[in-house]
Amino acid sequence: MTNTNSAIDYLSCPRCAAKRSPHVVNQLCECGSPLLVRYDLKKAAESLKKSDLSGRAKDLWRYRELLPVEREENIVSLGEGFTPSLPLKTAGAEAGLSELYIKDEGITPTGTFKSRGAAVGVSKAKELGVRTLIMPTNGNAGAAWALYGARAGIDVKIIMPEDAPVITRNECAAAGADLRLVKGLISDCGKIVARSVLANGWFDASTLKEPYRIEGKKTMGFEIAEQFGWDPPDAILYPTGGGVGIIGMFKAFQELSEMGWISGKPPKLVAVQAEGCAPIVKAFEAGESESEFWKDSKTVAFGINVPKALGDFLALEAVRETDGCAVAVSDAEILMAMPELARMEGVFVCPEGAALYAAVKRLSKTGWIKKNDRVVMLNTGAGIKYSNVLNFSPPYIDADERL
Ligand SMILES: *Cc1c(COP(=O)(O)O)cnc(C)c1O
Ligand SMILES: [Zn+2]
Repeated sequence: MTNTNSAIDYLSCPRCAAKRSPHVVNQLCECGSPLLVRYDLKKAAESLKKSDLSGRAKDLWRYRELLPVEREENIVSLGEGFTPSLPLKTAGAEAGLSELYIKDEGITPTGTFKSRGAAVGVSKAKELGVRTLIMPTNGNAGAAWALYGARAGIDVKIIMPEDAPVITRNECAAAGADLRLVKGLISDCGKIVARSVLANGWFDASTLKEPYRIEGKKTMGFEIAEQFGWDPPDAILYPTGGGVGIIGMFKAFQELSEMGWISGKPPKLVAVQAEGCAPIVKAFEAGESESEFWKDSKTVAFGINVPKALGDFLALEAVRETDGCAVAVSDAEILMAMPELARMEGVFVCPEGAALYAAVKRLSKTGWIKKNDRVVMLNTGAGIKYSNVLNFSPPYIDADERL
């Protein structure tokens, strides 16, 4: 029974300022807003020094003082985190930039960064005694929660649109989750989950309806800061669906700043969406603080097909507070950028990640990104999870021929 030294203090509501105990199961605030985890950052800054990190495992638990799990035996890990921030010399030059990087989450367990949220969310659920959890998903989150749930011994129920990537379906089923397919969108899945939670009292692990997946995803911000020698880059582009990652990274930079670990302005956070589902971009351009439901949403970048995000107001705040922006790119641009990055850099990204490169080129052309800015694209997953979105048809060669 070892203590993690977590500096977790309480949960707070960013909308109505209500406070909640972190020692009981919590879902949304009574006002309908997601709850955020607050830490005693003075205590954290006293017990954790930058130099302590060098001796720690290269996974996200290296920041355990700033994570919510309090007992080590509750940590459910598959080795997630500390993905590389790779320089992209050729793709950067092609976009007119001297310092372009990709933080590649494609090498994370389950093939996407959803494992970060699942690792911390499932660990905390285990610590709080959750037996059964249920969630709607566009695929990747369900796969991650099903697998981490299996490792934790928690029953997982997943509701997924029938046209979510087939591989994610198989991951859930193989992990023993109770998986149901829906002829509809993620928003329809969400309604089924809400009804089931009401009827059965299960833990609702829907995006932002539990406070802890943000904490897992914020570690991307910690890692970027650490990998850039505590002098974070000028801008980070993020493929935004529910917005959890962008909210998490914003929170990470605020926490590091409050601890005195970084100074100056945080990186500009850029929300990138697909033209077929761009509620955050529309709200950003209209100067609104919340988004509207995006009707008939459609994009190959399934992970960012979220017509209305519960945390939209927090994602918009993260973009505005950091002087960032929001950009929508087309599926055609996405499908072009996937092989471009593979060909120029050897990095086979998911469509969501490819959207970032399309956005980088556009923002560089308009001058919003300057030539010498240090820019990070946060590639959220592996291209191999989506191999069916590209349709190359290489020529055949007869068995007795040669080139
Ligand atoms: C879920 C997902 C996203 C969007 O993540 P949010 O943090 O909810 O905005 C982006 N890319 C991939 C591959 C995803 O699975
Ligand atoms: Zn509230």
